[in-house]
Amino acid sequence: MTLDNARLHLAVQKSGRLSQDTRDLLRGAGFRIQEGKNSLAARIENFPLDLMLVRDDDIPTFVADGVCEFGVVGRNVLEEASLEESAPPVEVVAPLGFGRCALRIAAPESTLYDGPRSLGGARIATSYPRLLQRFLDTNGIEATIVKMSGAVELAPRLQIAGFICDLVSTGATLEANGLRPVDTVLESEALLIRTGKTLSPEKAELAGRMMSRIEGVLATQESKYIMLNAPEEALETIAAMLPGAEAPTILPLAGRPGHYAVHAVCKESVFWETLQKLKGAGASAILVVPIEKMMM
Ligand code: ATP
Ligand code: ZN
Repeated sequence: MTLDNARLHLAVQKSGRLSQDTRDLLRGAGFRIQEGKNSLAARIENFPLDLMLVRDDDIPTFVADGVCEFGVVGRNVLEEASLEESAPPVEVVAPLGFGRCALRIAAPESTLYDGPRSLGGARIATSYPRLLQRFLDTNGIEATIVKMSGAVELAPRLQIAGFICDLVSTGATLEANGLRPVDTVLESEALLIRTGKTLSPEKAELAGRMMSRIEGVLATQESKYIMLNAPEEALETIAAMLPGAEAPTILPLAGRPGHYAVHAVCKESVFWETLQKLKGAGASAILVVPIEKMMM
């Protein structure tokens, strides 16, 4: 692959569980994806960025080698790849909040499980041999890892293994195969990753702009703008209750001496419970509004 030196390259899953959410995130950050005939790459029309459409398993290698400066991949795939001995380093820029799943140990319903020691001497089928080995080592357990590249959930029925270690989100697939999760090896979600290689000054500048746009979208997902009125004596208590807010803006209310409007960006979820507490502390006319864009 020869790559244009004036453009950034983001490795994304071509088609699969991460593709749609990755595209939605990029669109939300204002990147217009040109849907062309090329099935290996897609150009961003309004930013010097190309999406390289690949299998998720290849993303850590592309990013580690610097073939792509950035990538979007599950923590499960990244950590499995980075446990390989000669793996060059990759940096995690930000967790993206989608593609949530967990790498779990599961067993047939009838199997007794009493913590990791129940795995001693067992055969465990998985597509994640290094993560599983790390889990076993951490718990001081010796077991046989049976490496499979797919259909891991069939292993117990085929009597290839007594346990499996596989990705689970809802658990429906396990249940359909008469299995139940008994332990967790890794909690995972999609990550934005970047190469550990040094970028040219031009690319570093582009990278900074790209990341701040993506981080802006991530920050607004949970963030809300809160406005409320409060008497002077309650201001301190109320300011301390606002979830994830830095210094709020406090403005005097016209014609109501001793009363103030409080405005703040809350960077954490605002629940009804929080509103109740604010009200209890003396706040009134509480408004919570979504934030469309934010650049810190
Ligand atoms: P590829 O063809 O790109 O190799 P794949 O079949 O390996 O695709 P997918 O099943 O599309 O991969 O899953 C991609 C990623 O989505 C997983 O590595 C994981 O991080 C995440 N994911 C989220 N929920 C699940 C789930 N229930 N099962 C499997 N992966 C999940
Ligand atoms: Zn894959």
